[in-house]
Amino acid sequence: EKTVNVVGAGLAGSEAAWQLANRGVHVRLYEMRPVKQTPAHHTDKFAELVCSNSLRANSLTNAVGVLKEEMRRLNSVIIQAADACAVPAGSALAVDRHEFAERVTNLVQGHPNVTVIREEVTDIPNGPTIIATGPLTSQALSERLKELTGEEYLYFYDAAAPIIEKDSINMEKVYVKSRYDKGEAAYINCPMTEEEFNRFYEALISAETVPLKEFEKEIYFEGCMPIEVMARRGKQTLLFGPMKPVGLEDPRTGKRPYAVVQLRQDNAAGTLYNIVGFQTHLKWGPQKEVIRLIPGLENAEIVRYGVMHRNTFINSPKLLRPTYQYKGRDDLFFAGQMTGVEGYVESAASGLVAGINAARLVLGQELVVFPPETAIGSMAHYITSADPKHFQPMNANFGLFAPLGEKIKDKQRRNERYAQRALDTIQNFIKNDCKGY
Ligand code: FAD
Repeated sequence: EKTVNVVGAGLAGSEAAWQLANRGVHVRLYEMRPVKQTPAHHTDKFAELVCSNSLRANSLTNAVGVLKEEMRRLNSVIIQAADACAVPAGSALAVDRHEFAERVTNLVQGHPNVTVIREEVTDIPNGPTIIATGPLTSQALSERLKELTGEEYLYFYDAAAPIIEKDSINMEKVYVKSRYDKGEAAYINCPMTEEEFNRFYEALISAETVPLKEFEKEIYFEGCMPIEVMARRGKQTLLFGPMKPVGLEDPRTGKRPYAVVQLRQDNAAGTLYNIVGFQTHLKWGPQKEVIRLIPGLENAEIVRYGVMHRNTFINSPKLLRPTYQYKGRDDLFFAGQMTGVEGYVESAASGLVAGINAARLVLGQELVVFPPETAIGSMAHYITSADPKHFQPMNANFGLFAPLGEKIKDKQRRNERYAQRALDTIQNFIKNDCKGY
């Protein structure tokens, strides 16, 4: 009998187990709760939502809405349960968290091909395996993972700077240049006058931040300081730190600005840029207001807010294939937040792909890579092709999709086009490349 181990019955592991079981593969599903809890989970249920009860946008003009629709068509247990337990939330899909987790638990645990084992896994199992132990992977297993990947490729927290859509930058106010013109001109520079800097500075130091959880305090000691904390040490800390203008004279005037904010290309397609050195703990509303005070970013569309939280994840661009397979071991897969996808739905989607591919592996079928025109495929593509030196976890967004090949100015229409193309592509993919649904 074909068997696959799935470690962790969270958003990703539950989905992976479901996909495997539905393909006739036997699953040994390991979950350490309630024997051992994480610092954020409270119950013994599968797919417990540790924070918000929202799975974010449900409409097709939003990338995470498209992601959900693709998953629906692939018989996702997470989306099926969410649809059944939805509570009114406007255009978002929010759920009754207890009903939702209960439903996922019953469906997965009740599946005749699934055996649930309530124990902490402290070693990477032999044989076909999916590791989906999430951002709060237990310490013993983290140690093993560190040995597997090498210390430099496993991270314990996520100190991410905001990422914005290039299309939303006002290119007339900024210029492309590298410091001291070293190497090719790679950065987008947003120059500030003294007055602009002061306004930005005041907003930054007075903006509201997210309180750190007890188990997250170690992040500060890891030497990664949020921009607002740095700012509170004084203006000079910024002017000699991440906003340093030396070597960044504005080519249009030949003058050195008072301060400069640099943006670095974030994905291979060049549609996304991150703000260099701006890891932050600001709440999302204030964060947007502060960012929009930066010249050129007045209308910035933020696809991923800066965050600082506990997060175990691996350097997927170095370590994974777009099948979610570990490069060094064909029958080992990773799924969920561990792989550098960010969010409940994204985690479940990666579990779906890992589950399908692990099933195909043990059934002797060819593995599948989802097309980059789809939301599911765009995430797999991103985590395996991003710059490994600056890898940051990522939410689903249209900036990750394969470019449209035509310029559509109107944002709503552009998004509709991305969505339509994604759903056409996934439909064909299911029919031709990935039969058996
Ligand atoms: P999880 O859902 O955490 O599942 C991992 C499972 O593995 C857990 O059940 C855990 O008990 C188990 N496990 C761990 N180690 C072992 C082991 N050694 N042996 C056996 N089992 C093990 N995303 C959002 O979209 N919205 C939010 O509001 C949100 N808030 C978050 C708040 C916090 C505090 C954190 C840490 C993350 C948050 N996330 C949020 C990010 C992320 O989407 C969720 O954490 C999501 O649950 C990740 O799915 P996962 O399957 O990768 O991990």
